[in-house]
Amino acid sequence: MTPDELQKFELALAQPCMAITARGLRIDEERRLSMIAVLEAEIAPLHDELQGIVLPLVAENEAKLKKLKKWHLFVEKWCCSCCRGGVKKAAACWSCAGFEKSPTKKMIGEYLKAEGIWYATDVLLPCLKCGGQGKGSKLLYKPSSDDQTKIVLYDLCRLPKRMLKKKLTVAEDKLKTLVAFDKRGIVPKLLKITKHATIVSILERMKPGPDGRLRTFLNPAGTETGRFSSAGGFLEPFSTNLQNLPKREAAKDPKYDVRRCVIPDEGCVLIEADLGQAEARVTAYLANDEPLIRRWEHASFDVHKWMASIAFEKEMSEVTKGEREYIGKTVSHAANYGTGAKTYMQAVNSESDVTGFTISLAFAERALASVHRARPALKKWWRRVDAALRSQGTLTTVWGRKRTFFGRRQGDGWLDHTHKEAIAFEPQSAVADVLNMGLLAYWDRFDGRLGTIMLQIHDAVLIQTETPKRAMAAQALKSCLTIPMKIGERELTIPVDVSWSERSWGEMEE
Ligand SMILES: [Zn+2]
Ligand SMILES: [Zn+2]
Repeated sequence: MTPDELQKFELALAQPCMAITARGLRIDEERRLSMIAVLEAEIAPLHDELQGIVLPLVAENEAKLKKLKKWHLFVEKWCCSCCRGGVKKAAACWSCAGFEKSPTKKMIGEYLKAEGIWYATDVLLPCLKCGGQGKGSKLLYKPSSDDQTKIVLYDLCRLPKRMLKKKLTVAEDKLKTLVAFDKRGIVPKLLKITKHATIVSILERMKPGPDGRLRTFLNPAGTETGRFSSAGGFLEPFSTNLQNLPKREAAKDPKYDVRRCVIPDEGCVLIEADLGQAEARVTAYLANDEPLIRRWEHASFDVHKWMASIAFEKEMSEVTKGEREYIGKTVSHAANYGTGAKTYMQAVNSESDVTGFTISLAFAERALASVHRARPALKKWWRRVDAALRSQGTLTTVWGRKRTFFGRRQGDGWLDHTHKEAIAFEPQSAVADVLNMGLLAYWDRFDGRLGTIMLQIHDAVLIQTETPKRAMAAQALKSCLTIPMKIGERELTIPVDVSWSERSWGEMEE
C-alpha cells in the first residue's frame, strides 16, 4: 500500500471500529457477579490466615518497627459505626437505647412512663456495639499495601531482597522467586490473593451499562505497527480495554475465565476466526527460512510442537499439549525476536503457577541455542534488519507500512532495544494489516447480512450471527481473512482457524 492508500485504509477501519463500540458485548451479569463472589470468598480466609501469621511478628518487632518509623503503617484506627467515636455518646449511647436523636430530659421521662418503669434507672448505657470505647486502634496487615509487604518480607522475615530498578520490590514475578525461602507460608498466600484480586479487578471493569452491554474503543491508528489499541473511554463509563483479557489463567481454571461473561444475543452464536501461527509464519518467510517453510507444506505441521521437540530434545510425537503451549510457543517467540536466555527463563517462570512449567537458565540457553542451530536463517535475518537500521533508520513492511526507528543504539547495537523492536515490527505489523484487511472485507461484504462484527483482538476477529446462519457466516469470515501476501519471492497465505459457541466467548469449540 502507498502511504495514501494506508491512510485511506485506516480511515475506512474507523467505521467497523465505531460499530464495535456502538454494538457492545452482551454481558451475563449474573455470571459476572457470581464469579466475583467465588473469588472474593476465597480471598477472605487467606486474608485472615495472613493476619494470624503476620500480626504476631509485627507485635514482636514493635521496637524495631518504631525505630524504622514504620510502625504506624500497621496501626489501623477504627471508629464505632454506631456512636461514631463521640466521647459522650460512646458512654451513653442513645442509638443503642432506641432513640432517633439525643433525647431531652422530658423525652426520657416520657420513655420511662411509656415503658412502665417507676424506679430511677440509667436509660442511656455505654454503646453496645463498641462496649463504650468509641474509637481506638488495632494492628492490621493489608496484603494490598506494597509498603507493608516489603517490611514483612524483607525486615521481619528477612527473605532475600528482590530489587527492580535499584528499589525493593514485591512485584508478582519477584515474589514467585521467594516461595522457596519463605518458611512461614506468607508468599504463596500473597500470590494467590494477588492473582484473585487481579481477576476480580478485571471482572469489575467488565461491568456492563444499563443496556447490559460492555463497550470498548478501538483505535485503528493507535500503534505504530497498525495494531489496534483498545481502551475504555471517558464518555462511556461502561467501557474498558477488551484486548488484554487473560488467556493463560483462563485455560488453567474456569474461575479465571472472564470471557465466560461475554455471551451471544438471544438466538445467536459467537464465531471467532484467528490467523494460525501467524507471526511465526511471517517470521519464517521474512527470514527466508527455507527448511521451515517446506515443513509447512504438510498441512498438519505444527511449528510450536516442533519448537518444543527441539527444546526438550525429543520426538514431536512425544511432545505434550502443555510442552507445546508453554515451552514450544514461548521458545519460538523468544528465538524469533532475539529475547535473551535470562529474560526468556524469567518469562516462563513468572507464569509457572499457572502453567506448571519452571525452567533453569541452562535449559533456556540450551533450548535457544538448539533452535538457532536448527534455524540458522533467523540470525541472518536479524543482521539484515540491523543493516537496514544503520543505513536508513527505517523499515518498510510487506504492506508498505514504513516506520522510522528513533531509539539511540546501545553498545555495538546488536540485539539492543531498538534492534529487537525492529525485528518484531515487521511480523507483528504484517499480521495486524492482514487481519484488518480481512475485517474490512467482511465489513464491506457481509456485515449486517451474514453476522455482525463484535470485536477485533490482535490476531482474531469475533462476530455474532443467528444460529442457523452459523456455517455460512463462519465460511464468509474465513474467506475474507484468507489473504495472500507476497514476502520476497514467495507467497504466504496464513490459514484461518474458526471456533464458535452458543454459550459464551470462554467456551468456544472448533
Ligand atoms: Zn459505639
Ligand atoms: Zn451504640
